[in-house]
This record gives sequence, structure tokens and C-alpha cells, in this order.
Amino acid sequence: MNQTVATSRAKETEDLNPFHIAATQFDRAVVYLPRMQSGLIDFLKRPAKTVTLEFPIEMDDGSVRVFTGHRVLHSRVRGPGKGGIRYHSDVTADEVRALASWMTWKCAVADIPFGGAKGGVACNPKELSETVLRRITRRYISGLGDNIGPYVDIPAPDVYTDARTMAWVYDTYDVMHPGRNNLPVVTGKPVDMGGSLGRHEATARGCFFAVRQALARGAVPGLSDIKGARVAVQGFGNAGAIAATLFQEAGARILAVSDTQGGIFHDQGIDLTTAAWHKSERKTVVGTPGTQTISNNDLLALECDILIPAALEAQIRADNAEKVRARFVAEAANGPTTPAADRILFARGIPVLPDILANSGGVTVSYFEWVQNIENEKWDEAEVNGKLRTKMERATDAVLDKQTATNELVRAGKLATHTGPSSDRIDLRTAALLVAIERVASVALERGIWP
Ligand code: NAD
Repeated sequence: MNQTVATSRAKETEDLNPFHIAATQFDRAVVYLPRMQSGLIDFLKRPAKTVTLEFPIEMDDGSVRVFTGHRVLHSRVRGPGKGGIRYHSDVTADEVRALASWMTWKCAVADIPFGGAKGGVACNPKELSETVLRRITRRYISGLGDNIGPYVDIPAPDVYTDARTMAWVYDTYDVMHPGRNNLPVVTGKPVDMGGSLGRHEATARGCFFAVRQALARGAVPGLSDIKGARVAVQGFGNAGAIAATLFQEAGARILAVSDTQGGIFHDQGIDLTTAAWHKSERKTVVGTPGTQTISNNDLLALECDILIPAALEAQIRADNAEKVRARFVAEAANGPTTPAADRILFARGIPVLPDILANSGGVTVSYFEWVQNIENEKWDEAEVNGKLRTKMERATDAVLDKQTATNELVRAGKLATHTGPSSDRIDLRTAALLVAIERVASVALERGIWP
């Protein structure tokens, strides 16, 4: 069965709406917060604001096309909104809502003073020229007006946006707000215009630090080190390609990587430099000399130690979670595992290091960039990476400690639980959400409900 058919069958049987998935994850976690008021839970769950824009763009051939963009501010309880901008044909308001809520929890797990937000424009950047992408960015950012700002909501890169896009975001905002330091309005900028050293690699590097800490703490029985681990990475963009390189540098064997066209496999380890060169020349890793072509489904089902989904949402679902043969899943992507798949993997003893922890390195260094911009400072790369490592290890420790503490309370009969076969233990996603929700709720209560 090809991947498209498999995915469409999964859609028939499983609710893959990202916002519903985010809500299910949230609901599973709040079961373990029996003392939290239902009104507060409701407030924390719902996005604070959704802005939708329809705007015309003159295309290269002189025709006019209307594009739809969204920006969702989920929460500003702990600070201004923070979240990437995605350019992808599947962008919907619900996807952006889900991604914005994950940003709230991610910033709280990482313990940085931001709330959660996200943005996206429904378009296929692969079919658009640089000029059209720049026009889209300028219309989108000018349309958002003061819904973004250095102390309001701060965008960053996400799928199919990059430092170049962030430079246009900054320039547009700066033209509209002259006479002040606007650098902190957006992060992930080019380094020579206020971007932070280390930001480009930060999502992958953070994932690496979190995985290393989780393994060292015994999260995966019998696997204590990245060195020697067999790794498969789905997605070969910012998060995936750099994660593959960092894991390989630490002594892991990268068995497989993939992109939208499919995957490549080599049992002795992929030559990542050749794969990257092939991708830049041919727009795909498929066909990299010396590798065997596999499908994305094959990659997800590979026998390996660590599986790193680093592409899009809902890749590990009810219909393929039984086939996963990794010992550990580390979510570099946002939302790659559905709630049904979470249950299956948990029951099979495969821990999942959740997105709100595993890929929080990107927003953490975005925070460092924001601080540097406000202070007109430039930290060297070693300083950035050192601070990132500290943050990632602390966040990982907080999540593992919460899992242990919650399980002890549940076993002692002191806490309400899910119903179902795995109800006496919580998974790492629920533990991470508990850390995050408690941190946001605590600040919400300290601030008080206005007025
Ligand atoms: P990117 O655009 O740089 O790369 C995306 C990659 O995924 C590309 O190689 C693309 O070919 C591949 N891909 C897309 N659909 C696929 C599919 N169906 N199967 C296999 N591969 C597929 O994007 P990115 O920034 O690396 O983001 C990837 C994931 O990481 C997203 O979920 C994003 O939200 C998340 N993330 C990114 C950052 C960041 O700083 N860039 C931070 C946190 C989380």
C-alpha cells in the first residue's frame, strides 16, 4: 500500500485534526491535576486570539492570487507570544491553533518567559518564486499589524520558512514602525542582522541534548548512550538534517533519512555530506549514491534504537504505530505522534520524548536571540550552546522527575488516573504537559483574572 493510500485510510479511522489532537493530549494530562478549577483549565486550553487574513498577491505572470494566512496567540500568561511561521499548502486555522498551544507548553517546559503563538500561510513554496514569497511575507506581516511586536508576539522560522523569510519579516515591521530598535520582533534572522549564532542548529542541538540526558537518566532500558546507537530520521530539513549530523558526530549510525520524495537506507550508516549535496542538487535525498531507496513508511518501521520524526504532524498513527521497531522515539517535529499511537507505543514499552521537550531548543535559542537584540549584544556560539545545553538538561530532568513523582502518587492511590490498561503509569508527553500546565497555571493565578 502506498503512503498516500495508507494516510487517507488512517484519516477515515482516526481524527487527525491537529487541534483535536492537542486537546486530547491536554485532557489526558489535566486528569492528573484534580485540584485545578475547571474554569482555569478551560482558559489554559483555548487560544486567546486567532487572526485570519485573506490577501491578494500579484504573481510573476501578472495574474492575481488570493492567499490565506493565520496567526494564533494561544497564551501570553508567561510572556509575549512566541512561535514560528509555516508556509505549507496544508496550513489551516486548526493546525496553527494546535501549533500555538504546543508553543505555550514548550516555552513553559523550557522555562523561558514567553507564551505560545504560531502563524502560517497556505501556499506551496516549492512552486513560488523568491519574489512572490517576499510579497506574501510582506502582505502577511503588514496585515498582522500590531498583532505582532517585540513585547506582543514574536515570530520565528518553521516549515519552509528560514532566515531569509525572517529578514523580510523584520524589514516589513521595521518600515511600519520606524525610529526604534525592532530587531527583537522576530528571531531566526540572518546572523549579520541580529540573528543569534547557534540558532540555525538549535532545534536539532536541543533535541540531541535532551535525548542524551534522557538516555543517561535511564529513560530507555538498556540504551544509555547515543554513541553506537542506530538512528533513523524522517525529514531532512532544518531539524532533521542537522539532528542526523549531530547524532552521527556523537558516534551514532544514521541508518536512514527521508524527505517528501521518500527515504534512503544504508545499514553501515549514510554519508550525510553526500546526501545533503544530492538534496541541494536534485531537491531530494532519494537516489543518493550508495544508498537503497525506501519509503517513509519503511523508515518509520525500521529496526533501530532511536527514531527521530523531524517532518510534519501525524506521521506515527494508529495504523502504523504497531510497526514501529525503534526502542525510543524523539520528536524533533511538532505533533508527529497521534494520541492513539501514543497509547500503542506506551503499551509496547517504547518511550516517546515529546515535541514540547525534544524540539524546544529552537525556541530556547530564539529567546537568547531576543535577549541579545534587546541588550544590543552578540554572544559567541560556545556561550549560546552552553546555555542551551543547561536549559535542555534542566527541562529533561524536570519532565523525568515529574513522571517518576506522578507514577509514585498514582501507585500510592493519591491521584486520579486515566481509565484503561496503562492507567497506573504516565507517559513522557503527559509528564511534560503536567510540568508546563502547572507552570502556566501558577503564573495565571499569581496574576489573577483581570479585572
Ligand atoms: P524544513 O522545511 O526545514 O524541513 C522539513 C523537511 O521535512 C523537509 O526535508 C521535507 O522534505 C520533509 N518532509 C515534509 N513532509 C514530509 C513527509 N510527509 N515525509 C517525509 N519528509 C517530509 O522544516 P523544519 O524547520 O526542519 O521543521 C520540521 C519539523 O520540526 C516541523 O514539525 C517543525 O514544526 C518542527 N520544528 C522546527 C523548528 C525550527 O526551528 N525550524 C523548531 C521546532 C520545531
